[in-house]
Amino acid sequence: MNKKNQNSKKNEMIITKENNKPKAVNAKNMVENVLEQFNSAADEINLHPNIRKILSITNNEIIVHFPVKMDNGEVEIFSGYRVQHNNALGPYKGGLRYHPTVDIDAARALAMWMTWKTSLAGLPYGGAKGGIQLNPSLYSQTELERITRRFTYALGDNIGPEYDIPAPDVNTNSQTMAWMADTYMGTKPQTQRAMNQHVVTGKPVGSGGLEGRDRATGYGVFSTIRLWANKNNYILKDKTFIVQGFGNVGYWAAHFLEKEGARMIAVQDAFGSIYNEKGIEVESLFQYSLSNNGSVINYSGAERIDNKNFFATNCDILIPAALGNQITEQNAKDINAKLIAEGANGPTNVEGEKILLERGISIIPDILCNSGGVIASYFEWLQNRNGELWQMEEVIKKLEKKLNESFEKVFNYSKNNDTDLRTAAYCIAIERIEKAYVQRGIFP
Ligand code: NAD
Repeated sequence: MNKKNQNSKKNEMIITKENNKPKAVNAKNMVENVLEQFNSAADEINLHPNIRKILSITNNEIIVHFPVKMDNGEVEIFSGYRVQHNNALGPYKGGLRYHPTVDIDAARALAMWMTWKTSLAGLPYGGAKGGIQLNPSLYSQTELERITRRFTYALGDNIGPEYDIPAPDVNTNSQTMAWMADTYMGTKPQTQRAMNQHVVTGKPVGSGGLEGRDRATGYGVFSTIRLWANKNNYILKDKTFIVQGFGNVGYWAAHFLEKEGARMIAVQDAFGSIYNEKGIEVESLFQYSLSNNGSVINYSGAERIDNKNFFATNCDILIPAALGNQITEQNAKDINAKLIAEGANGPTNVEGEKILLERGISIIPDILCNSGGVIASYFEWLQNRNGELWQMEEVIKKLEKKLNESFEKVFNYSKNNDTDLRTAAYCIAIERIEKAYVQRGIFP
């Protein structure tokens, strides 16, 4: 991530501040997409019109512009976002993303997905999302630290351990969370600092983090694939899979699938796509990417393929684990997989999904498939609140149990009501929130 060490020539991609521009059109579609998904499930369950109104809009939208001194002494202004969609079930919860496409619309869509995800998982949380509009590969570690700390300071008490709890997302990690926790705690009186460490989850294990949180999302992707396979008498051994996005989610999902005997044959990241019919060793590719500025390009164990051919790769399982709106009406007809497991948030748009379902391709929807991350975040939050330290074994066991419960609910709902898995997941999630509103009524 250090701009001074960036080997952009090797990656055949030169990143400049000029191409560090937001792609707002993409983000706009994500809001439309999540609202369309919501409305079709709301129709299915005959959701009360008042609750439909409430859930169609976000509760709070925070935009902060803040200055940060760069290593060369110049000051740059950054724009940060936090959208809090709904907190009927508990404190707002959701990740922070550092990416050029982050803007208010992207944050809105992603925050809504978080509300459905936490509800479906049966957690005592609402949904939020945010981030900073920037390309982190243009900044040094020390600059990223100052940007993160200044952003945390600018958000102030718009986040809080019992109010809104961020976590890592695209281009943020446990280090980002450690800086945030430290900054937030530093703004509190001496006697209250330690009791505020659960203001963020996804921290390093040495700083209040949870054993296994790093792999939890990818493990959940794998685990839901395995649950789907069990229901469909589908043997994972010797099946082939392809992964878009080889970061935290993509790598760990691939790691566990490979352990189950499946073979990764193609990978796409922000720099390009690679392919090897015989299989690409997951750990070897991961180690290579660490030494190659996070990119899989030019890995010796695979050939480079054109990005536009990636989704058409003949395989059994496709795991989108990068950004939203990747599978659309443009490419859904080319996909040659039996199952799509949505590691990313919102990777498939409504039109793309229609084509896939007509073609008999199953989809494990994002709010179920990648929910392992927020479930483990909940465990971390509990661990901090209760002053406990959980062991990895315990974490994975509890995670597995929660994923199993969610999967069973979604699977049974879809069978009993003859719906696809996404509609089933949305119906369960929305009904839980509806119940809370019905019980409490609307103030005043
Ligand atoms: P990450 O930053 O660790 O990795 C992102 C990966 O996507 C990188 O390999 C990057 O090169 C690739 N990528 C970026 N732009 C791309 C593009 N245009 N085409 C192809 N590849 C591209 O991020 P992550 O934490 O793994 O998150 C990936 C997805 O999973 C996101 O949609 C995120 O919202 C979702 N998710 C993450 C978590 C979590 O715990 N980290 C939890 C739930 C959902």
